Amino acid sequence: MRIARFARSGDISFGFVQGDPDVPGDLVVAPLTGHPLFDPTPTGEVVPLSSVRLLAPTQPINVVCIGKNYADHVREMAGTTSGPSESGVPTVFLKPATSVIGPDDPIRLPVGAGRVDHEGELAVVIGKPARDLTPENALAHVWGYTAANDVTARDQQKSDGQWTRGKGHDTFCPLGPWIETDLDAADLRVRCEVDEVLRQDGRTRDLLHDVPAVLAFITSFMTLLPGDVVLTGTPAGVGPLEPGNVVEVSVEGIGTLRNPVVSR
Ligand code: MG
Repeated sequence: MRIARFARSGDISFGFVQGDPDVPGDLVVAPLTGHPLFDPTPTGEVVPLSSVRLLAPTQPINVVCIGKNYADHVREMAGTTSGPSESGVPTVFLKPATSVIGPDDPIRLPVGAGRVDHEGELAVVIGKPARDLTPENALAHVWGYTAANDVTARDQQKSDGQWTRGKGHDTFCPLGPWIETDLDAADLRVRCEVDEVLRQDGRTRDLLHDVPAVLAFITSFMTLLPGDVVLTGTPAGVGPLEPGNVVEVSVEGIGTLRNPVVSR
C-alpha cells in the first residue's frame, strides 16, 4: 500500500496511491478520512494524483539518522568525519522536525554555508511506539518506507564538530513521495540524480547496520513514536548542490523524491 499525504483546496488529508508510476497520468489517489495508522476510511472518491499537492508523507516528532552506514561512503568521507566507532556502535544523530519538507518543495541553500551536499537514503517510518526493540521484533513496529534526502552543509559539519547545524537547516530533510507499507527493505537500490546525472547508486544490502539492527540500537536509548522517521545512511557519491539544480532520490519499490534547489 502506498500512502500519501496531500493538500487539496486548502485541506490536508491522507490517501491511498494507486496506479503505475511509470505510466504518465496513471497515478490516482483515494482520499481517506482519519489517520491511516488508526482508522483509515476511504471516502469513495478517486482523483488524479496530479490534481493534488503532495506533502511530506509523515510529520515526525523525531527524525533519527544513522551516519557512516555504507563502507564506500565512509571511505569517501575520510578527512571530513572520523570513521565508524571502534566499538561497533552505529553513528546516530538527529535532524529537527522543522527540517522536513515534501516532494517538489525547494531545498534552500543557506547563504554563506559553503558546500551543501545531497545524501539519498532509505527512510523507515515507525508505526507503533517502540522501545527496547530486538532485531527479531523490530520490523513489526515499522509502518513503511519512504525516500529521504539527508541534505548536509558539509563545511559546517566539519568545522562545528557537532552535526546539528550542518544537518539541521530548514528544508534539509525532504521526505516522500509517499510511504510504501508492503516492502522488504533488505536489498533495495538507492539512487540519487542531480539534473538527471546519476551521482549515487547503492543497495541496502550493503548497510553496515541493517534496518532491524538500527531500530534495536536507537530504541535501546529512546522511544520512537508513530510517524517518526529513521534515515538509514547514504551510499557513496555525495556531492554539492547548486541553485537551479533538481535533485531526485529514488528507492526501488517506493518511487522518486524530487526537489528543486534554490538560494535562501
Ligand atoms: Mg546521511
